[in-house]
Amino acid sequence: MEELSRGRALGKVTAVIEESERSPMGTMKKIMQENPDIVNMSIGEANFDPPAELIDIACRLSADKVNRRSLYTSTRGLPPLRQAIARYMKKTLGADADPDENILVTVGGTEALHLAIKVLVRPGDKVLLPNPGWGALEGLMRRQGPEILYYPLRKAHAWTVDTDAVLQAMHAGVKVLVVNSPSNPTGAMVVDPAGWARIMEKAKELDIFVFSDEVYHVYTYEGPFVSAVGLDPTFENLLLIDSFSKAFAVMGWRIGYAVAHPWLIRQMDVYKETVSACTPSIAQWAFAEYLDSCDAYLEQRRAMLKDNMEKMVARLNAIPGVFCPKAQGGFYLLPDFSALEPSSVAMVEKLLRGGVATAPGAAFGSMGEGCLRLLFSQEWLDVDKVVSRIEKTLTG
Ligand code: PLP
Repeated sequence: MEELSRGRALGKVTAVIEESERSPMGTMKKIMQENPDIVNMSIGEANFDPPAELIDIACRLSADKVNRRSLYTSTRGLPPLRQAIARYMKKTLGADADPDENILVTVGGTEALHLAIKVLVRPGDKVLLPNPGWGALEGLMRRQGPEILYYPLRKAHAWTVDTDAVLQAMHAGVKVLVVNSPSNPTGAMVVDPAGWARIMEKAKELDIFVFSDEVYHVYTYEGPFVSAVGLDPTFENLLLIDSFSKAFAVMGWRIGYAVAHPWLIRQMDVYKETVSACTPSIAQWAFAEYLDSCDAYLEQRRAMLKDNMEKMVARLNAIPGVFCPKAQGGFYLLPDFSALEPSSVAMVEKLLRGGVATAPGAAFGSMGEGCLRLLFSQEWLDVDKVVSRIEKTLTG
């Protein structure tokens, strides 16, 4: 704190530092450490074990003194991993991508977004983001100095978009449109197949770049997932962002990937060389070996997550004054508590005193006000305990 005041006094503190000071995550983590009895429903992590087979592979590779898997890899990512990713995309998204031309392995989905924003967005450009949406993305965008415009996700329609409103917002001055489906923080598959087709058609017509952030796509609970990739097979106007963080509960391994047109992948690759040199090598080698055999793991986790989600939704909707749409994917719910307390920050404080940590909807944008983001990824989630605590706090 002293350092920060000194920096401020010297006029040296950048907007980035000020921004991180306002982030609620650090405060929340500290409160959790000091109060282990609080049930943590606030932080966006996959709270289940990574695949045992993947861990075994990573341990074996780390100890391999002959093949030395700890060296730098190519910036673009190991060729066998990029080939495995192309097969994974075919299987899970029904899409084709050239492992040499279209795929860049990145330090999580975050780096994929960071690199794309750095090479594409200039000060004064117009970018169109969802509201509510994942806060870190807005932070990344803001640092490049564009004009940020928003399109709403609609609470009354299970947090999906009004396609006509998105099309209207996509005017000629817009450079980038970001779509995140399944959504953090709402759990919605925000665009239906017909809506996606219309959005991609307009993007091509106006040469708008669409960032489709699909990092939660392997966990969907209602109907098949619709990816944007099939709608622009040559990636003229599309960048796909995916990550293994949430799918395989390896947030700290820092591994994800971007799929785009060869010219954009080349730009991002060159930029990445100076930012991170390469994605962690053991994570890359391990996924290259493991990825083809992930089906049973994903199926089992999907069943667990769906069960958690359905129990949570049923119990929450039974509390008078609470409205909780089902999540169609990912592992967040964004229930509306506004009939009981209009301020999401005040509600978070109240529930924290009642033993449950949640994230305020307002942290994800103005449309999230009155709502709380609840995580349901915990393999050990005791729905009765959590919802009873919430209910007691609200009605007691
Ligand atoms: N996109 C969304 C919507 C997210 O919620 C996250 C993480 O919370 C990411 C991207 C980035 O995840 P990672 O960098 O861990 O792959």
